[in-house]
Amino acid sequence: MSYLKSFTRLFFPEVCSICGRGLFSHEQIICSVCKLNLPLTNFHQYNKNPVELTFWGRVDIQKATSFLLYTKGEIVKNILHSIKYRNNRLLAEEMGRQFGLVINESNIFNHIDMIIPVPLHHKKLLKRGYNQSELIANGVGKVLDKPIETNILYKTADTSTQTKKTRYERWENAENIYALLNESSLNDKNILLIDDVLTTGATLEACCLAFKNTNVKSINIATLAYAAN
Ligand SMILES: [Zn+2]
Repeated sequence: MSYLKSFTRLFFPEVCSICGRGLFSHEQIICSVCKLNLPLTNFHQYNKNPVELTFWGRVDIQKATSFLLYTKGEIVKNILHSIKYRNNRLLAEEMGRQFGLVINESNIFNHIDMIIPVPLHHKKLLKRGYNQSELIANGVGKVLDKPIETNILYKTADTSTQTKKTRYERWENAENIYALLNESSLNDKNILLIDDVLTTGATLEACCLAFKNTNVKSINIATLAYAAN
């Protein structure tokens, strides 16, 4: 730690983004206790893990995993809330970095050529000021040393205005929720889609549909949290 940083910490002690406890000088963003208590899924160690099974028969996925198990406990809920609604960008990137370290222990994403975060609709991005999935992707990408592409996949429809539509109408629209730019850059590429949380898989399925008529080699998925249905 730099002298200046230690000096600043004397007067403005940094606190853990999850539990609020003061951080020791060797800790960053989250404390060692919270790091130890993260409910890891370890899905990356298994074939046909619950994330992969979520997409079974829906879209063609090569490998998929999630970092944290979103169950009754508060910790994952707090993390997701902080990064999505409370502007905690450093936590989003740090969680991505922690995820990357776990992924790196296995070989599941060794074949990846580029990481594509699930995009927000431009209106939502303007309102929130950042895309939490992109920040998570940045953290993962730094550890895996893979490029993050944010100019390929984009969201065409503001789905938050579609809540009153029937389930059938929403499904009808799914193919057109996301679209691509620079399609040729995907030729023969293995892509890793990254999102914050997996619940029904509808968002990521809609993303995958956008790649249907491209020459992409494989689609892979990683989400920070997995919410068991
Ligand atoms: Zn903590």
